Amino acid sequence: MPAVASLRVAIVGSGPAAFFTAEPLLGRTDYAVTVDMFERLPAPFGLVRFGVAPDHQKIKSVTRSFDKVARRPGFRFFGNVDVGTHVTLDELRRHYHVVCFATGAQTDRRLGIPGEDLARSHPATEFVAWYNGHPDFRDIVFDLSVKRVAVIGVGNVAVDVARILSRTPAELACTDIADYAEAALAASGIREVYLLGRRGPVQAAFTTPEVRELGELAGADVVVPAEDVALDPLSRAALAAADDRALEKKVEVLQEFSTRQRSGKPRTLTLRFLVSPVEMRADDAGGVRALRLVRNRLEDDGRGGTRAVPTDRTEELPVDLVFRSVGYRGTPIPGLPFDERAGTVPHDRGRVVAGGAPMPGVYVSGWIKRGPSGVIGTNKPDAAETVESILADAAAGRLPTPSSPEAEAIARLVRTRQPQAVGYDDWLRIDAAEVTRGAACGRPRVKCTTLVEYLAAART
Ligand code: NAP
Repeated sequence: MPAVASLRVAIVGSGPAAFFTAEPLLGRTDYAVTVDMFERLPAPFGLVRFGVAPDHQKIKSVTRSFDKVARRPGFRFFGNVDVGTHVTLDELRRHYHVVCFATGAQTDRRLGIPGEDLARSHPATEFVAWYNGHPDFRDIVFDLSVKRVAVIGVGNVAVDVARILSRTPAELACTDIADYAEAALAASGIREVYLLGRRGPVQAAFTTPEVRELGELAGADVVVPAEDVALDPLSRAALAAADDRALEKKVEVLQEFSTRQRSGKPRTLTLRFLVSPVEMRADDAGGVRALRLVRNRLEDDGRGGTRAVPTDRTEELPVDLVFRSVGYRGTPIPGLPFDERAGTVPHDRGRVVAGGAPMPGVYVSGWIKRGPSGVIGTNKPDAAETVESILADAAAGRLPTPSSPEAEAIARLVRTRQPQAVGYDDWLRIDAAEVTRGAACGRPRVKCTTLVEYLAAART
């Protein structure tokens, strides 16, 4: 039998896009594939662990299939290792045939309005990372003593943030929310939460099950002004043309919300549409005290879509805390080209393209490739496309030959640069310690949130 050629792959990042890239590669029989996954944090799974809301445990169960991938022969995990700090792209290229970046979108998009950087105005992405126990965000202080809060944007992240702010302590107690966030939210003084969409219900980015859940909160009445969910002719036409049952259902859910009477729950969660914030107004101490909103109307954008156009109607919405939830944004990766406008790395079917030509052996997968859109499963076909390009390049002899291909050589280099690297066995001990701590208090897990805690749990 002819010897199978070896294919050494480094994947940077360990979220869904990383695992969906690793899985089909490790399943090949025509190559002896080894995958080394490099992760900046001391735990794998990226946004599944640090982005998916703690009260959405079912979605998090996808990590079971990632765990199966990680236990396959040929897989290694290098956690707490930052590519760019502990090991460079050039070094990875010397050790692997393939380097694939699946680093996601690390920051938030900006609104570009006056007052955006006032105290108590935060990117929603930071709040999400905070309540999920992300070590880099655990020390941010959010002033939850205030009464009124606005979440700008109507995507699923905005819905997550509004829902977590509206949950009762009992609803959060059975989740894996970070301990400190659970305590802060239990002491929260928030009574009114506003979700603000610049276009109408038909154009809202959130999905139907997520918005329906807002009507089932134990401690918050959902409120929707009837005027905001009455469809204009453009929206009616778009809804009819879409012929999409889920979209029709979403509009029905919102219209049903608009008929509800308040039942006297301690909080209200108000969904508004066709309003854009144009300014954040400050109190004397430099914190947010209000949002100036402009009423929008919808206009055909000439590209088959609908855009919001400001009218001359304005209002002031008194709020003391703001979460800007208008999308994630990718950040440049040292050594790779970057499309500033899109916030992504330019590529051709996953092959990184620099100066009009593919960079041999360098690929992208997931949000850093296509932008921050879609659900976890969307990363599967996205990763499959990248894998197809990798295999086509391998078959055509287009992959560079690493000068130092021994598996132990890179492991040695990493150990020298980062003695506190976390391997997959370490992660399994961390995971077991978290689950054990959770079982003692009826929760799925109690998360480690500092490096010290992670390293201690890895040693248990
Ligand atoms: P998103 O779905 O792209 O939503 C962004 C929202 O921000 C949209 O409502 C958008 O309105 C609005 N927006 C953008 N610029 C604005 C501006 N200047 N002023 C006012 N509003 C503005 O992004 P996301 O919520 O961050 O979610 C990212 C991805 O993760 C999405 O694909 C989402 O579905 C997914 N996700 C899924 C779940 C889940 O399945 N449960 C949970 C969380 C996230 P326009 O539409 O008018 O641009």
